[in-house]
Amino acid sequence: MSKDKPARIPTPQPVRGTQDMLGDFADRFAHVVETFERVRRLYGFKRIEVPVIEPTAVFARSLGETTDVVSKEMYSFEDRGGESITLRPEFTAGIARAYITNGWQQFAPLKVATHGPLFRYERPQKGRYRQFHQLDAEVIGSDSPLADAELLVFADQLLKELGIAEGVTLTLNTLGDAASRDAWRGALVEHFEAHRSDLSDDSLARLDKNPLRILDSKDPRDRPVADSAPDIDAFLTGEAQDFFGAVTAGLDAAGVAWQRNARLVRGLDYYRHTAFEFVTDRLGAQGTVIGGGRYDGLIEMLGGPPTAAVGWAAGIERLAMLLGDDVIDNRIDFVIAVEDDGLLALAMRTLAALRGRGFATEIVASGSPRKRFDKAGKIPARALIAVGTRDGASYFNMRGDSELTVVADATIRALADH
Ligand code: ATP
Ligand code: MG
Repeated sequence: MSKDKPARIPTPQPVRGTQDMLGDFADRFAHVVETFERVRRLYGFKRIEVPVIEPTAVFARSLGETTDVVSKEMYSFEDRGGESITLRPEFTAGIARAYITNGWQQFAPLKVATHGPLFRYERPQKGRYRQFHQLDAEVIGSDSPLADAELLVFADQLLKELGIAEGVTLTLNTLGDAASRDAWRGALVEHFEAHRSDLSDDSLARLDKNPLRILDSKDPRDRPVADSAPDIDAFLTGEAQDFFGAVTAGLDAAGVAWQRNARLVRGLDYYRHTAFEFVTDRLGAQGTVIGGGRYDGLIEMLGGPPTAAVGWAAGIERLAMLLGDDVIDNRIDFVIAVEDDGLLALAMRTLAALRGRGFATEIVASGSPRKRFDKAGKIPARALIAVGTRDGASYFNMRGDSELTVVADATIRALADH
């Protein structure tokens, strides 16, 4: 027999920019999703599911060739049948595709919500991952500014219920209707042409295809030129002004605080009228927690009928990072310490009965019986039940939350009577 140690098998490492979650962060993540699921029902948003994979054209056509997502960030591959497939980098385009291919027009206006993983080939850092997760809400088939306002009030209530509304600001802009946008675009091109030599290469490439995107540039070289560019205000048509006025009136009526940011354009090409971001300075460079707006042109770009629509997406990881320390309560209701194995069957029946009545309950019934009480005491529970025998008589000692101990007492008596 050889004395050589067996060769160590190298463990495959996780894909860069992905996260494994256990414990506190997993609880925070789940809390964000549960809160969203509760609040979206209050606003009448139906739950939908759409695929993680779509034909590449769904995103390439709708997001715009010059966007970062399409030009640099998509996970695309050819499947075994030779079709180009992309892991979804966002929800909206896939939902719009589903709306058209399933004939959901019959349900318009359709209010839908979903959540799940998205994939973008980005430079991983705090709050920025290659697989990340979003909450998403969309209203498809409504051209009313009330839909924009409703979505924003929904987002605001979500932040309040998560306890993070303080320190997160709603910043709002309008990109106008087609006429306003065209006029503004002309003025922007003129401004940027005059400052060509000060722009980054990326922005020079955007200049022909989508000059608005230069306003959104994160490259410090572009900022002075972008910041001195003309606002859209002088170019807004009366209709576009009225639309924006109705959205802000809706927010004011609902008591939602907002700030105008005339420099705000969203990264994707399909936005019209309302564009917004909820931002915070508590997450360093990754300060946007929710982003969205109106995308009246998108469904037509995907070959569907002209359809007005508006929506937002929130980064679950970023929201989870903002949660306070007191939000997650991991305490269960009961822990049962079995101090005498002769009573194990009764303890197991008690465990099943309490869980059956909806109480989160754990049992400690292994290891030395004398140590089980201490072991149970370390489990965060509202009440502790010790089961054992002393001087030949069985006992059920309870301590903790008095309402719960009353429940446990009644449950055990009912079991003992059988
Ligand atoms: P950013 O400017 O931070 O790159 P974005 O404009 O690309 O954001 P959206 O496409 O609007 O982001 O996505 C909506 C939200 O999803 C963002 O506000 C953010 O909270 C979250 N998000 C986007 N990309 C990532 C990522 N790579 N990792 C984690 N969260 C992300
Ligand atoms: Mg991005």
